[in-house]
Amino acid sequence: MDVNQLQQEISDLKKEALELSLSNEALTDFIENAALPLHWVDENGIIIWANQAELTALGYNSSEYVGQSITKFHADAEVIDDILTRLTNNETLHNYKARLRCKDGSIKHVLISSNVFRKDNKFVHTRCFTRDVTPMVLEEQRKDDFVALVSHELKTPLTTILSYVQVLLSKAKKSEDALGTLMLTRTEMQAKRMTTMINDFLHVARQETPNAHLHTETFAFTTLVQDVIQDVQLMYHSHNIEFEHCGDVELHADRAKIGQVLSNLLTNAIKYSPEGSTVAIGCERQSENLKIYVRDQGVGISAADQKRLFDRFYRVENARSKNVSGFGIGLYLVTEILKYHNTTIHVESIEGEGSTFYFTMPIHTS
Ligand code: ADP
Repeated sequence: MDVNQLQQEISDLKKEALELSLSNEALTDFIENAALPLHWVDENGIIIWANQAELTALGYNSSEYVGQSITKFHADAEVIDDILTRLTNNETLHNYKARLRCKDGSIKHVLISSNVFRKDNKFVHTRCFTRDVTPMVLEEQRKDDFVALVSHELKTPLTTILSYVQVLLSKAKKSEDALGTLMLTRTEMQAKRMTTMINDFLHVARQETPNAHLHTETFAFTTLVQDVIQDVQLMYHSHNIEFEHCGDVELHADRAKIGQVLSNLLTNAIKYSPEGSTVAIGCERQSENLKIYVRDQGVGISAADQKRLFDRFYRVENARSKNVSGFGIGLYLVTEILKYHNTTIHVESIEGEGSTFYFTMPIHTS
């Protein structure tokens, strides 16, 4: 190699070293000064590095934070235990909800996205991104509190109306006043419907756990379906409701709540299908379980909407839904009630052809 060649090679190497150090500097700057809080935790849960945004967000200085166990900064011990277990098991977390403790004692609601950097298959550190969603969460809580308050205030006068209507109704029945009885029966039913709607709102706003209020009993499934059909038919005369029997079966569950599930599914089937069409409610025995379904010949639901249907306040955006009244809480409540009965709701649907909602429950054997 002559001198010129050697000089050229030295110059190339210098250039490469400069580029490398520049890219290193740029990367370090990127993570140190990123607007998003970032940190690394080692396999023992010790914070080994955090950027400025993370320290600022929580109000600590580096020595108060780095070197400490991450569990100290989580408000919920079971949440951080779960996060660390999942990461150790090679999971990638996306927007995992957590609550962090700030230095001033306040709590921040955050979404954590994280996975693990491994070398030669060994846990080196987590790559953890934290997004502060406290303002959104507090706003959501304020809305829920407002809905709960309004629902509560609406309930009091309604209870009074209902009790007076019931007194008048029993008088009308005694005096064999047919028109009065009919009008008051309808008034009573609408007042009861409104009470159910208000109770649903209260439940959704408080995000209560319904299992705390489950009143389980053994009951005949057929009688429950007949009662539900009768109630729904009083409100809607536009559709034929068919009961596809599967013999006498007993369930052990909260009768009123399972009735609410069936009623919500049946009213939806009616609301989202053309007048005059048939809506079926039925059951199928599957060894020790009962499959319960509600089927319609309605508008159907796209695959994308099927995934979000059961979310709180979700309504499908289409012409049919726009003209149909609703708040998007019926299916959310169905999911919640079934969850506390250890079962889940499923849907099969073809757009333009109809939908079938179904779930299974164990058949009660005495
Ligand atoms: P709501 O009916 O009050 O809007 P739900 O939670 O009961 O609320 O239902 C959520 C959405 O799911 C509805 O707005 C509707 O778009 C869709 N949906 C529910 N049931 C059916 C059905 N049987 N057929 C078609 N769409 C349905």
